[in-house]
Amino acid sequence: MKALSDYSLEGFQQQIVAWGFKVSHAKPLLRNYYAGAGTVDWPESRTPRGLRDRVQAECGMMASALAARQVAGDGTVKLLLKLADGRTIESVVMPAYQEDRMAGCLSSQVGCALACDFCATAQNGFARNLSAGEMVEQFLHLRGEAKAIGRRLQTVVFMGMGEPLLNLENVLEAVRRMAGGDMGALGWRQVTVSTVGIVPGIDALAAAELNINLAVSLHAPDDATRAKLVPSGRRFGVGEIMAAADRFQAKNNGRPVSIQYCLLQGVNDSPEQARQLAALLAGRRMHVNLLHYNPTGVSLTGRTYEPSPPEAAETFMRELRARRVVAHFRRPRGRDIDAACGQLRRRAASE
Ligand code: SF4
Repeated sequence: MKALSDYSLEGFQQQIVAWGFKVSHAKPLLRNYYAGAGTVDWPESRTPRGLRDRVQAECGMMASALAARQVAGDGTVKLLLKLADGRTIESVVMPAYQEDRMAGCLSSQVGCALACDFCATAQNGFARNLSAGEMVEQFLHLRGEAKAIGRRLQTVVFMGMGEPLLNLENVLEAVRRMAGGDMGALGWRQVTVSTVGIVPGIDALAAAELNINLAVSLHAPDDATRAKLVPSGRRFGVGEIMAAADRFQAKNNGRPVSIQYCLLQGVNDSPEQARQLAALLAGRRMHVNLLHYNPTGVSLTGRTYEPSPPEAAETFMRELRARRVVAHFRRPRGRDIDAACGQLRRRAASE
């Protein structure tokens, strides 16, 4: 059975016309479904009785179900969602700086094939791409979580399980449904796609001209260090990735690209590496988010990574700022739950 999340507006219009109903009923119904975080208020949607019966007979509301839920002391909520084929994915919603808002983090694949050495998701390998509907459902689950505590889901970032640019077609379709005014109405600028640096994907994302944000997970300023952490770095060098980010930025009205940098003790957190990063960013209007590492145990290559000590992280930040790089620490979230992406799924699988 198809779920309402599986439909684009055009697809749903065609479907209800095929059922013998007016095309004009499609948009209010889907808007109501998105506003209701995956449920329909039938009277409010003004759906004719016959169409309502048909939709209820032929469509599910959601294909995914909540398999586990963790709530951290800081208000971060991590969901483990079970998909129709029994596989599981993680989605997270975090309180934003403004008291009435939340920020969501979505997965784009079941697992991931890129084998980044410090990543919990990588340790279970890759299963499959998510459909647009499965990504939309994460958004709706998170929108419901925010609504339940009187907040609004204000932004989403594709930074959960998977590399979104290796599932670009479905990611773009999900973004169109979530952000476009016809259905989810989140707003294009409220969406960020985060990549480890898949150069053709960055160019394809730019070509889509959706006016969304790009984040690049760099994690090292040089190819040698990066290739040890992010194996895809052997295919796309730092210079090539930054050039693609420049092209994206130029196409996106100069809107700054954010550079994600996870500080790992003794690996990428030296003052010299901060200076190299600053040199790389000189003349570029990009900002750096310094991420706290949530340890995930022994890595794929048998290493155990640790977060940078606070003094080293502060020094790294100072070196950047001294060279006029805009840099911030991203507030660590959900440290009392399985905060790293992929950890809850691994725990659930081992229980
Ligand atoms: S960090 Fe991202 S791209 Fe790398 S293995 Fe993990 S999920 Fe995949």
